[in-house]
Parts: sequence; structure tokens; C-alpha cells
Amino acid sequence: MGSAPDVYATLREELKGGGSVAEVLTPDSAGYGESIKRWSEHCEKRAQAVVLIKSASDVSKTLKFARANKIPFVVRGGGHSTSGSSAIDDGLVIDLSKMRKVTVDPEAKTIKAEGGTIWEDVDVEAAKYGLATVGGTVNHTGVGGLTLGGGYGYLTGKYGLTIDNLLSVEIVLASGELVTASSASNPDLFWAIRGAGQNFGVVTSFTFQGHPQPNPVFAGTLVFPPTKIPEIVTFANKFHATNDGNQAILWGFSAPPPANAPVVLMQLFYNGPESDAKEFFADLFNAEPLVDMTSMIPYEKLNSLLNHATGFDGRKQFGGGAFKLPLNPAFVQSLLSDFTEFVERHERMGESMLLFETVPYKKVVEVPSGEMAFANRGDYYNLASMFKWFDPALDGEIREFSKGLLKKASQTAGVVQDEKIREIEGVGVYGNYSNNDVSAKEVYGSNARKLEELKHKYDPDNLFSRGLRLVPRPIVVVN
Ligand SMILES: Cc1cc2nc3c(=O)[nH]c(=O)nc-3n(C[C@H](O)[C@H](O)[C@H](O)COP(=O)(O)OP(=O)(O)OC[C@H]3O[C@@H](n4cnc5c(N)ncnc54)[C@H](O)[C@@H]3O)c2cc1C
Repeated sequence: MGSAPDVYATLREELKGGGSVAEVLTPDSAGYGESIKRWSEHCEKRAQAVVLIKSASDVSKTLKFARANKIPFVVRGGGHSTSGSSAIDDGLVIDLSKMRKVTVDPEAKTIKAEGGTIWEDVDVEAAKYGLATVGGTVNHTGVGGLTLGGGYGYLTGKYGLTIDNLLSVEIVLASGELVTASSASNPDLFWAIRGAGQNFGVVTSFTFQGHPQPNPVFAGTLVFPPTKIPEIVTFANKFHATNDGNQAILWGFSAPPPANAPVVLMQLFYNGPESDAKEFFADLFNAEPLVDMTSMIPYEKLNSLLNHATGFDGRKQFGGGAFKLPLNPAFVQSLLSDFTEFVERHERMGESMLLFETVPYKKVVEVPSGEMAFANRGDYYNLASMFKWFDPALDGEIREFSKGLLKKASQTAGVVQDEKIREIEGVGVYGNYSNNDVSAKEVYGSNARKLEELKHKYDPDNLFSRGLRLVPRPIVVVN
């Protein structure tokens, strides 16, 4: 490999070849600083170059170039992972953020989204045709990372995971070849990318099944004092039996500024009229929330409601676990105490959250675990922690605390940690919330072995190596 400036001058020339206008930003380029920004400051790394991709052909050329020059690379979709897997110090970034076109086919009810789209792009465009698919609950997250790792949203109760609604992808493989993966074309690759996609190539477009989505919907936040935990937990326990897939509640703890006092937040969703929603959530309204921000809203605004609580400043870390209902209010109170004690002991951590994502999972577990790579299908809900802080000296301490809190919440809530049972019941870890400190077996369970063999088939040199640890493993034929 030549010196960095020389080698990237060559890449610029190669990209010009096909009439492409892809830009190659190096540290001295205008816009470079903006291009390495990520949702979490602790994932910002000073890449040698950032290639602002405009087409699948740009991806193909950049991959071939990186391979020929032995330059490590990462792929950036929406830039939200807190594992750092879309940023790099010693190589180049294949940045898809300029590929954000969404095309809807109203006859076929399909939604085609380019590889760098964010959920806002999809929600807004699909709504013009009265359609929606299962998108993330914060609309500035990337379609790319969220889909390739599984994807949960408010519509999961009705339609399952994002990948359960994925019809096909166009993907550039490590070889530079552009292929289609679907149930009819390269079905083994399609199996792998639905849960472990970051390991297999650069997806330049996703085609989703759209569903008719009536407007408006009932949604918004309620804020309670911690003394209301018994009422909230009692409601969540009841919700497990009373929901019919058209409702979701995301609830948990935070201590938001300016007061920085601990509160219980509850995000409500009801896919239907206000009168029905008010009746369904009556116990919560009767519990006299401190703040009520619920109302009827257009569906395409739904995934923007949490944007204010998930802004781009500061260092952040996502973590995942699982919980079962019914929960015991005293146990939830003890988690709140642990959380509050830690957050209050450190400066400017009040926007951190522990969330019980009570999104109905009946549709999720209807799909067998071996149907695709994703293995977090079980009789439990996801737990998510999002810690936010500003002082880099706290990075390690927060990572450890988050792990401990999630472990306590997951184990005591009854999710079985025994490996054999996990394989039957689901792994209890959502890969998109983990931080590369978990093994392939932990995230993919009994699908891990097949994934490693497919990795050997599609990326034998492990060029896509920066996400969850999945290493190529040749198939051993025993005679
Ligand atoms: C505020 C917030 C809210 C969230 N809410 C939800 C939620 O409601 N539901 C849910 O399921 N998850 C949620 N998540 C988790 C989310 O799924 C992950 O953070 C996901 O990695 C984000 O994808 P991204 O494209 O924005 O991230 P990136 O950091 O850009 O990418 C993540 C990984 O995917 C790879 N990647 C991205 N795009 C492509 C592509 N086109 N081709 C190949 N590889 C690609 C990257 O290389 C990287 O390894 C949330 C995260 C945050 C920060």
C-alpha cells in the first residue's frame, strides 16, 4: 500500500471512471469532521478516508480497492450502533448516508429503501400511500443496521420483526459482486442476512412488505413519580394478557434534566381510535400521571416521539437483556434504586434510561428460530439500557454497571440462562443492543454454526469483521 494520500487519490480516480460522483473525504477535506460524527461521541474515530457512496457500483469499486490495497473498512448506515462497528481508525468508511431514496409500489404494497435510509425516510414516503412496515421507534436510526440485526418496532405486535417483513435485498459481496438475496435468489445468503447481515456484505437496497396503515394513531408519553411503580407494573402484567398486538408500551426509568429527579416514563401506542385507547389504558390514566403527552397523531410521526430523548450529543452505550411478565413491583423498585443511585452519583447522566420494551411478541415467536439467522425469538420481552454521559473517564465503569444491571434484571425476571434451554427458547439477547463483547453463540444460538459456514462461503477472508464476532468456518465433510 502506498502512502495514505496517494492511495486515496487513486481511489478518487477509480470512482470517477463510471461517471460516479462519489466523494472521498480525507482528514484535510471539507466535510470530513461531519462525516465521522456518530450518534454516540465515543464511536467517533478518525478514519483514513470516508467514501460518500452514491451507487452500488461505487460500493463494488471501493470494496475491490480496499481488498487490493489491504485496507480495513467499515460500513456506515445510520451511524447509531454504540459498538463502534460503523467507525474505524485505521482504514476507510463505506458511508451510505447519501443513499436515501425510498420507492413505494402501491399495487404490490412494497417499499424499497436504499442502503443508507433512516426510518423517517421510509415512514414518511410509505404514509403517502397509506402504507407502513415495521420500523424502529426512533426515526433517525438507520434502516441498514436495524434491519440486518432483526428490528423491533411498534408494529411488531401485528407483523413481527422488520426482517419478517423483508422480501429481498441487493447486496455487494466481499468479492465486489452485486447480487440479489431473497427466498428465490441466493436463499442461503437471505437466511444469513436476516439477523447477521453486517457480516456478509454491503446492502444497497432493502425491499419490505408494506401494510395498510390507517391514520391517525394514539400515542405519546406519560410521566409518573417512582411511587407509582406498583400501579405501572400491575398494568404491564395485565397488558401481557389483554393486548391483541395493536398496542405496545415502552416503560422504564430516567432522571431527565432540568430536575434530574428519577421518574418512570411510559410510551404508549394504540393502533386505533382514541376512545378505544383511553379505555384500554384507563388504569394508567387513573393512576394520575404527572405529565400526559398522549394524543392522536399521524402514523408517520409515531417514530419521532422519542427523538427528543435520544439526541446526538454525548457518549452513549446501548445494552440488552430480557424480562418476563409478570414482574414483581418490589423487584422493579430494586432495579430503580440501583439505577438511580448510580446515575445520581455521576454528573450529567440524567438522560440515561432503563427500558422494559413491552412490545407483544406473539408474531415474533410464530416464526421458528431456524427460519433465519436471527435467534432472539422466545417467550420474553426485550430490556434495553441506554446510558448517556460526557466524561470519557467513565467509559469503563458505565460499561460494567450496565452489564451488571441488565444481568440482574434478566436473570431475576426468569429468563433462563442455561444454554440448552436457550437454544429452544431463544437466546435472550438482541444483537443490535449488544456491544461486540458477546460471542456468536450467545447471539445466534444454534444458528451460529451454519452462519460460520455461510461466512466461509461468502466472505472467506473475513473482510466484514467489525461487527459481532462471526468467523468463517469451512464445512468439514466426514466420509
Ligand atoms: C436511539 C436508538 C433507538 C433505537 N431503537 C431501536 C428500535 O426501536 N428497534 C430496534 O430494533 N433497534 C433499535 N435500536 C438499535 C439499532 O437497531 C442499532 O443501533 C442499529 O445498529 C442501528 O443501525 P444504523 O444503521 O443506524 O447503525 P450503524 O452504526 O450505521 O450500523 C450498525 C451496523 O450495521 C452495519 N450496516 C449498516 N447499514 C448497513 C448496510 N446497508 N449494509 C451492510 N451493513 C450495514 C454497520 O456496518 C454496523 O456494523 C436503537 C438504537 C438507538 C441508538
